[in-house]
Amino acid sequence: MSSHPDLVAAAVAASSRAYAPYSHYFVGAALRGDNGKIYSGANVENASYGLCICAERAAIIAAVLDGVRTIEAIAVATSTSPPAAPCGMCRQTIAEFAREAALILTNDRGERLDMKLSELLPHAFHREDIK
Ligand SMILES: [Zn+2]
Repeated sequence: MSSHPDLVAAAVAASSRAYAPYSHYFVGAALRGDNGKIYSGANVENASYGLCICAERAAIIAAVLDGVRTIEAIAVATSTSPPAAPCGMCRQTIAEFAREAALILTNDRGERLDMKLSELLPHAFHREDIK
C-alpha cells in the first residue's frame, strides 16, 4: 500500500481552514482523483446545524465538479487520538466514487491508520442496487 504522504500533508493543512465555531472539531480531507490531482476540503459548520458539511464531502464535491469520477485514495485529518474515521454519510459518499479506495486516517500528531473503504462500509448501497 502506498503511503500517500502528499495526501496526508494536504489533509492536515486543510483542517486548519475548517469553519467550526460551534464544535471546535477541525477536520481536513484530501483525495487524489483519477486525473492525478489532489482536492482538499474541510468541515464547514452552520448555525443551523443540519447544514454542516463534512471535510470528506467538501473535497469530493470539489473533485466531482472538476470532472473526477473515481477516487484513488483519501486522507482524513483530525486532532483526535486515535484518528477518527469518516461518518456514515461520508462513507457512503466515498463508496459512490471508489469501492476500494485507500483510506488514510491521520491526526496532527502524526498518528495514522490505513484501511480500505470496504472495511468501514462492507455492504454499501451501489448503483446496481437501484432497479
Ligand atoms: Zn462525514
